[in-house]
Amino acid sequence: MNFLEERIVKDGVVKEGNILKVDSFLNHQLDVELFDKMGEEWAERFKNEEINKILTIEASGIGIACIVARHFNVPVVFAKKSHSVNLDGEMYTAEVESFTHKNKNQVIVSKKFLNSGDKVLIIDDFLANGCALQGLISIINQAGASVSGIGIAIEKGFQNGGQIIRNMGYHLESLAIVDAMDASTGEIVFRK
Ligand code: 5GP
Repeated sequence: MNFLEERIVKDGVVKEGNILKVDSFLNHQLDVELFDKMGEEWAERFKNEEINKILTIEASGIGIACIVARHFNVPVVFAKKSHSVNLDGEMYTAEVESFTHKNKNQVIVSKKFLNSGDKVLIIDDFLANGCALQGLISIINQAGASVSGIGIAIEKGFQNGGQIIRNMGYHLESLAIVDAMDASTGEIVFRK
């Protein structure tokens, strides 16, 4: 097991409804040392990619992306979730359905902060069905920028987002892939 898998086994809690709760180190209380190790790992895995910007999505992605960015020396942009439809044309937008909250949000990025020619590393905490990633990819495409890679902390391999994103040809690096988990026993099985 790698360092993140070990931490998930130690502190993660499997909830009903295919939810893995990791709020003691990733989603609420934040283990900055752990994020730093994740950044080191992604810097190695993406060392052959050209990257000049990191894009993430609020809220849980922001803390991770900021620490990770220290290993790439690039700025972080986060997509904002907005219920407002009053958009003035100065924003790239995409619709994202939240897996955890079961609602739909517009996500927006100002045209000021994403430009054609940008080579973007997407960072996020979880990959489930891939809606959040597809929204971010759409925003990058609208800007005429390109996706250099996608770094995910925890991929739930029993949901189909990872397969969809890999089939699209993106360089996806998930630090922990959960292939099965059981809310009644708490057991978590990782992909080898
Ligand atoms: P997707 O868009 O891939 O279906 O879901 C990804 C988003 O849903 C992540 O950004 C994350 O915030 C949230 N999410 C999905 N599954 C889980 C989970 O098991 N636990 C937690 N804490 N968040 C999740």
